[in-house]
Amino acid sequence: MTASDKPLIVIAIGGNSLIKDAEHMDVVDQYRTAGETAQNIVPLVKAGFRVLVTHGNGPQVGFILLRSELARDTIHQVPLANCVADTQGSIGMQIAQSLRNEFRHEGLEQAVTAIVTQCVVDEKDPSFGQPSKPIGPFMSEEEAREHERDDGWVIGEDAGRGWRRLVPSPAPLEVIELPAIRTLLDSGNLVIAAGGGGVPVIYRDDGELRPRPAVIDKDAASCLLASELGASVFIISTDVDKVALNYGTAAQKEIDRMTAAECREHLAAGHFAAGSMLPKIESALKFLEQGGEEVIITQPHNLQANLRSIYGTHIVP
Ligand code: ADP
Ligand code: MG
Repeated sequence: MTASDKPLIVIAIGGNSLIKDAEHMDVVDQYRTAGETAQNIVPLVKAGFRVLVTHGNGPQVGFILLRSELARDTIHQVPLANCVADTQGSIGMQIAQSLRNEFRHEGLEQAVTAIVTQCVVDEKDPSFGQPSKPIGPFMSEEEAREHERDDGWVIGEDAGRGWRRLVPSPAPLEVIELPAIRTLLDSGNLVIAAGGGGVPVIYRDDGELRPRPAVIDKDAASCLLASELGASVFIISTDVDKVALNYGTAAQKEIDRMTAAECREHLAAGHFAAGSMLPKIESALKFLEQGGEEVIITQPHNLQANLRSIYGTHIVP
């Protein structure tokens, strides 16, 4: 069996499962959680699956923006597209190194490659007209107004916690590095790609690529890659064991298994919160519509080679 005959699993790792809590956010802590996540992925590779890992970057982009902000009188600011690319490099390196070390412990020769990824978005995407995703440090209203005036930022109040910069969150349409990702997977690499949803880029009329200050949802970019690469299973690794109905209320009920049709009903009934569970569910449904066999939403420590037995929520066509 050649590498390309093996079934492919796409595993999207949530930014939250890389940063545990406010006391464990520095780079050493990030290595530790990347190492734990790597330990959970190795059994899948040993069981004969090809694996593509994607990851979030919300907290890490926030750190870069805060540093950039604190140093604004001394050195230039870092554009958002560069922040995304920076975190793809740093988080990708940490996951790649952790995986490599884990494979080595298991006596396995397994190549691992992290790839800086650009995702094409449509400049006419409605989200460009209505930036809604809060990013970076919280500010006073006065500071926020200053950025609005001096830097052209769109600003907004974030859930009563303070003022923040708002950026568009356009839908990803094409992954520029897809052919390279496919070649790497086919030649037996474990690939890490589309970190933070990928760097948002647009095609200019003359065909050239240009970055855009936006943030692509990592669940949406992971779904696009999973579908384009013909993945069998899409695993969304986050900080809850299972998807729930009536989440966060006394009537909360965790779901073990649901069909896409049942999932659509729950979505219509408003069970999945915007900005957190909703993008995962929308991506799950899209993946299944495009031929995917199964989506599993769970915590990283629940992963195991016998996919059917993974403790989590299983969504099937
Ligand atoms: P990630 O970094 O993994 O993308 P998110 O915070 O974006 O994590 O999404 C996971 C969060 O979704 C959970 O911590 C939980 O608070 C929230 N959530 C919203 N609705 C639900 C639901 N119906 N079932 C389970 N979790 C939900
Ligand atoms: Mg999220």
